[in-house]
Amino acid sequence: MSIAEKINSIQNQIRNHHCQLVAVGKTKPVTTLIEAYETGIRDFGENKVQELIDKYEQMPKDIRWHMIGHLQRNKVKYVVPFVHLIHAVDSVRLLSEIEKQASKIERPVNCLLQIHIAEEESKFGLSEDELFELLYSQDFLQCQYVRVIGLMGMATFTKDTKQVRKEFRTLKQLFEKVKERKDLPSHVQMQELSMGMSSDYSVALEEGSSMIRIGTTIFGSRN
Ligand SMILES: *Cc1c(COP(=O)(O)O)cnc(C)c1O
Repeated sequence: MSIAEKINSIQNQIRNHHCQLVAVGKTKPVTTLIEAYETGIRDFGENKVQELIDKYEQMPKDIRWHMIGHLQRNKVKYVVPFVHLIHAVDSVRLLSEIEKQASKIERPVNCLLQIHIAEEESKFGLSEDELFELLYSQDFLQCQYVRVIGLMGMATFTKDTKQVRKEFRTLKQLFEKVKERKDLPSHVQMQELSMGMSSDYSVALEEGSSMIRIGTTIFGSRN
C-alpha cells in the first residue's frame, strides 16, 4: 500500500470518532512526509527537537507541528516560536520554562500534560496526585501564555489488549475527572486526549481518544 492508501484507511477508521490524526514522521525524510502532506495531512509530530526544527524549516508553512516526545528545558526556546502543541509536559519546571519563553515573544502555547499509565517504569508522566498538585500550583496559576488543553498518555507496549484498554480507560476517566472540576484555572481547558499509536490506536479510539499519533502504520518501520 502507498502512503496515501494507508492514510486513507486510517481516516476511514476514525471517520465516526471525533479524532485527529497526527502523522509521526520521525527518522523519515521530508520527501516521504510530503507524500502525506499531499493527501491533505496538516498535523505532523516529531519527538526530537532538532528534527522538528529541520522539518519545520523545509516544509510548507501551513503545517501544525506537534512536539510529541520528551522535551528538555534547555530546548524549549527553539520550539516555542512555532509549535502547535506540546504533548508530553510532565513537570511544573518544564511548564515554567515554556511560560518564560512564550512570554518573551508573547505567544500562547498549547500543552498537554503527560500521565503515567503504563506498567513500564521507564515511561515519563505524572501520577494523578502529581497532576492535581501541578494544576493548583502557584507556578502554574501564574502562567499567562501556557495553556493546558488536555492530557496525553502511552500505554504499556504489549500485545495484551485488555491491559492496554485498561490503561487508556484509566486515562480517559482521569480526563473526565479533571474536566468536571469547577475550580480549574481559566488556562486549563480539557479538550484533547492524545492516546494511541500504530500498535494500539484502534483500542484508543474505542476508549475515547481525540488525537492519535501514528508513525509506523503510515510510513513503515524505522531503522
Ligand atoms: C514514535 C512515537 C509515536 C508513533 O509511534 P508508531 O508506533 O510508529 O506509530 C507516537 N507517540 C510518541 C510519543 C512517539 O515517540
